[in-house]
Amino acid sequence: METKEFKAESKRLLEMMINSIYSQREVFLRELISNASDAIDKIYYRALSDDAITFHKEDYYIKIKADKQKRTLTITDSGIGMTKEELENNLGTIAKSGSLAFKNETELKDGHDIIGQFGVGFYAAFMVADVVTVTSKSLDNSIAYKWQSKGADGYTIEEAAKEQVGTEIVLTLKENSEEDHYDEFLDEYRLKQIIKKYSDFIRYPIKMDVSVSAPEQDDNGEFAEFVEEQTINSMVPIWRKNKSELTDEDYERFYEDKRYGFDKPLTHIHVGVDGAIRYNAILYVPEKAPFDYYSKEYEKGVELYSNGVLIMEKCADLLPDYFSFVKGLVDSEDLSLNISREMLQHDRQLKKIEKNITKKIKGQLKTLLKDEREKYEAFYQSFGRQLKFGVYNDFGANKEMLEDLLLFYSSKEKKLVSLDEYVSKMADEQKYIYYATGESIERINKLPQTELVADEGYEILYFTDDIDEFAIKMLRVYKDKEFKSVSSSDLGINVNDKETTETEEEVKPLLQFMKDALNGKVKDVKISTRLKSHPVCLSTEGELTIEMEKILNAMPD
Ligand code: ADP
Ligand code: MG
Repeated sequence: METKEFKAESKRLLEMMINSIYSQREVFLRELISNASDAIDKIYYRALSDDAITFHKEDYYIKIKADKQKRTLTITDSGIGMTKEELENNLGTIAKSGSLAFKNETELKDGHDIIGQFGVGFYAAFMVADVVTVTSKSLDNSIAYKWQSKGADGYTIEEAAKEQVGTEIVLTLKENSEEDHYDEFLDEYRLKQIIKKYSDFIRYPIKMDVSVSAPEQDDNGEFAEFVEEQTINSMVPIWRKNKSELTDEDYERFYEDKRYGFDKPLTHIHVGVDGAIRYNAILYVPEKAPFDYYSKEYEKGVELYSNGVLIMEKCADLLPDYFSFVKGLVDSEDLSLNISREMLQHDRQLKKIEKNITKKIKGQLKTLLKDEREKYEAFYQSFGRQLKFGVYNDFGANKEMLEDLLLFYSSKEKKLVSLDEYVSKMADEQKYIYYATGESIERINKLPQTELVADEGYEILYFTDDIDEFAIKMLRVYKDKEFKSVSSSDLGINVNDKETTETEEEVKPLLQFMKDALNGKVKDVKISTRLKSHPVCLSTEGELTIEMEKILNAMPD
C-alpha cells in the first residue's frame, strides 16, 4: 500500500469541502452521479467504435446503495473505470484547475460561492463523508485498484479485487452533530428526492433498492414488505421532454446543473424541430456577461449532442458572433457520432441548424423587448455592445437581424429607446434620425449642437459607447431614414429665426485672426447661425465626426 499527499491546491479545496457550511450539501450526489454518467458515456463511445467491446444496453447503469448499519452510501457504475495512474491523477489533482485561481481569499473562506458557481466535482464527497473509498477497474487494465482518503492529509492506493469494469465509491458518512444530520443521506425517500431533483435526465438508469409493500394481503392479512430494485430517474433528457411538462424552475435548474453561468438565465428557448432537419435545442440568454466575455479568452459555443450523446462541449459553428452570449445545447439525430471538428464546419445540417436557431434567438429577444422591457434592458446592459459589434464587424450584413434589437438613450424620453420607437414618432417633415456622440449623457447635454437640434423639437439619440457611431455608419439607414450627427454641417433643419447682425464681410478680419491664432488646429473659422447659449462650437466636414476621429486616433497602429 502506498501513501501519498495531495497537491497543494487540491488540499486547499479539500479542506474547504471538509469544513464547508454550505447548506446544499446534497449536491455531492449530483457530482458523483454525473461522474458515473460521464464514465459510462466514455465506455459507450468506445464500444461504438471498437468491435472488440461488446456491451448491451442493460449493462450501463448507476447504482446507489445505502447501508444504515455501516453508515455508508455506495455509488457504483459500469463506466470505463480508472487505472492506477488515473485514480492518482484524476482524484489527486483538482480537476477544474483555474476555478480557484481567480477567487480571492475571503471568497475562498466562505466556500459557498465556489461550490455554487463551479461545482467541485469529486471532492464534494468530503462535504458529507469522513472516508472516501474508490475501487475501480479500468477497461484498459486487468488489475483493479483501491484509492482511499480520510481527508486533506493524503490518500492511499493499493491493488484490489474487483471483477467488473467500472467504479465503486463508498462514502462513510460523517457523524451526526447538533446541527448536522448526515443520516438523511441514508434515507431512501430523501435519496430518491435528491436523484430526481438533480439527476433526472441522466441517460442511464440510476437504480436503488427500495422497500415496497405487496399490493395484496398475505394469508395472515398483512401486506408483506420486500425490497425491489427500482430505476429512480426518468432518463429522458429535459430537451426531449414536452415544453408543457416543464416549469421555469426546471429550465433554471438545468442551467445551474450544466453550469452554463453563475447567474440565473433571463430567458430560455426550447425548440423541437421535426422536418428536413431534426433537432432539439434548449438555449439560454444569460442575465450577466461572464467576467471574460469581452476578452479574447471567451469562447462561444453550445453543447452539441448526437442523439443524446455529447459530441462537443463548445460547438462554435452553431452561433454567430453577435449571439455569442447564448448558452445551451443542440441535439440532432442527423449528426454522426464520429464527426470531426473539421467536418462539422462544412456540415450542411449544422449550417441549417445554425440559421434556424439564430432566427429563434432573434425572435425571442424581440419578444422580450416587446413584452418584458425591464428584462430586455438588463440583457442589453450586458450584451448590447456585442450586438453593436455585430453590426459593425459584418459591414452591415446582419442589419436585418440586429437593427431592431438596438437601443439608445433618447434626449426626449430620458431612457433607452429602440430605432423603431424613434422612427414611429418622427414628424412628417423630419428627414433624419439625429444622434449626438460623447463620453456621457451629461457631456452630450452640454454640446451646443445638441441644444440647437433639441430646441427645434427633435429627438436625439445619445451615442455614449465607442462602438455606437461606427455601428450606425454600417447600418446607414433605418426604415429608409438616414442617421445624422447633430454636429454635421447639413442638418436638414431650417433655422431661420435667427438674425445675424454682422455680415460676413464685417467679421472677416476677426475670423482670420482666430484662425491664425489657432495655427492649423482647425481648418476654418466660420460664422454660425446655429448657436443658442454657447459662444462657439466645433464641427466637422465629411463622414468622420470628431468623436470617431478621437477613437481612431486612440487605436494602436
Ligand atoms: P470533472 O467531472 O469536472 O472532470 P471531477 O472532480 O468530478 O471533475 O472528476 C475528476 C475526474 O475523475 C473526472 O474527470 C474523471 O476522469 C475521474 N472520475 C471521477 N469519477 C469517476 C468515475 N466514476 N469513473 C471514472 N472516472 C471518474
Ligand atoms: Mg464531475
